[in-house]
Amino acid sequence: MSGEVKAEASEDKCSGKADVLTGQQCPMCHSKTLALTEAECDIPYFGRVYLFSMSCSSCNYHKSDVECVEEHAPSRYEINVSGEEDMKIRVVRSSQATVKIPRVVTIEPAIASNGYITNVEGIIERVKQQIGSSIEDEDDETKKKQARKLLKKINRAVWGQDELKIIIEDPSGNSSIVSEKAVMTKLKGSK
Ligand SMILES: [Zn+2]
Repeated sequence: MSGEVKAEASEDKCSGKADVLTGQQCPMCHSKTLALTEAECDIPYFGRVYLFSMSCSSCNYHKSDVECVEEHAPSRYEINVSGEEDMKIRVVRSSQATVKIPRVVTIEPAIASNGYITNVEGIIERVKQQIGSSIEDEDDETKKKQARKLLKKINRAVWGQDELKIIIEDPSGNSSIVSEKAVMTKLKGSK
């Protein structure tokens, strides 16, 4: 499974310090209804992060990304999550990051990938949407059953009855899982 699902649910907008430029030309529909937003967010225990986004009110085109103010080394974060408290753990995911939940899903970076600041719950919501839409598109009953099983496994972790491992690998170093429970290592294959 790959691709990107749009989920705005628990996204961090860094409200207060954002610069917004409206009336810009949209690269998709060419209407002058594009809003450019640039914000600087301070992420405790990680650093300052720029959050860029483009949104068109005519065609709903949306693109966003994050970039650290100071450069970070290519990194891999791994964490086991379970229960309500873990859902609040801050996650910075750049458009270059791969998000993996072993034996459940791998979300590879794609051209249309967005970067965003969210939390574990936001990551899980995206994964659930992706699995949910794969069930709708699937005709094979066996595969549908497997996908429903994965959703159950994820929900058990959300309710604290099971653990879920989340891995984020980012060669740009612009991603992080901000928690004492997260294990950070140098990304293999990187310089
Ligand atoms: Zn547009």
